[in-house]
Amino acid sequence: MKYIGAHVSAGGGVENTPVNAVAIGANAFALFTKNQRQWTAPPLSAGSVDLFRRRCSEERFLPAQILPHDSYLINLGHPEAEALQKSRTAFFEEMQRCEQLGLDRLNFHPGAHLGKISEEECLDRVAESINRALERTRGVTAVIENTAGQGSNIGYRFEHLARIIARVEDKSRVGVCIDTCHAFAAGYDLRTETSCEAVFAEFDRVIGFGYLRGMHLNDSLKDWGSRVDRHQSLGEGTLGWTVFRYIMRDARFDGIPLILETPDESRWPEEIRRLREMQAGA
Ligand SMILES: [Zn+2]
Ligand SMILES: [Zn+2]
Repeated sequence: MKYIGAHVSAGGGVENTPVNAVAIGANAFALFTKNQRQWTAPPLSAGSVDLFRRRCSEERFLPAQILPHDSYLINLGHPEAEALQKSRTAFFEEMQRCEQLGLDRLNFHPGAHLGKISEEECLDRVAESINRALERTRGVTAVIENTAGQGSNIGYRFEHLARIIARVEDKSRVGVCIDTCHAFAAGYDLRTETSCEAVFAEFDRVIGFGYLRGMHLNDSLKDWGSRVDRHQSLGEGTLGWTVFRYIMRDARFDGIPLILETPDESRWPEEIRRLREMQAGA
């Protein structure tokens, strides 16, 4: 079963996200459980949590169809002690919010070294940050997203994600989310069937499909290897439709949230419809 959706608005409260997902014909969705541009947020109210859970059950969304994303401010590999602690606290709180909502995974960008420590040191800090969060929470998997490698962001090579996973103690609660735009911008060619075959074989060899907990389906505005993270609507960018058709027809991408983060929300219903057609072989 393919779970296809988009990163929908949580405006007015997280309880509105399942409704927003249904409105675009999705059977999966992503959300922020708090304002993604602020460090702190009021706790989720009991009413909001209850309504979210009730609506998810009414609309038949299982945790495997939902991929919450953490705040963009968090840097779990921060080179400075105080800022690292601030990020670790915020990440722990995000994991707790997922627990409260009955969700089983939290998607995040690994971090950035800011030119002050090596990539390896930064990756090891991220792993330590994950270990600390997992120690204090239950049932939520930390889902590391690959990045475009913009600026000093780490996580642009599959090897980076593998290094983090290798240092996480509880392997049952760590996973990855692959963003097609980020992978392409980072230098993984996904423009043809043959190149998709090669990239996902490499993914399987370096990380393993057993760790795949979600995908972000985005075309790219910038060229292959640009290291610039700019999403584009499906089929309108430098990637084209091939990789999305490939994913739709490959059972290794079944049973996980496949999430659009494309810039034009008005196209989401059409993008989801096209993806389903591709799955059916049209
Ligand atoms: Zn992301
Ligand atoms: Zn993404």
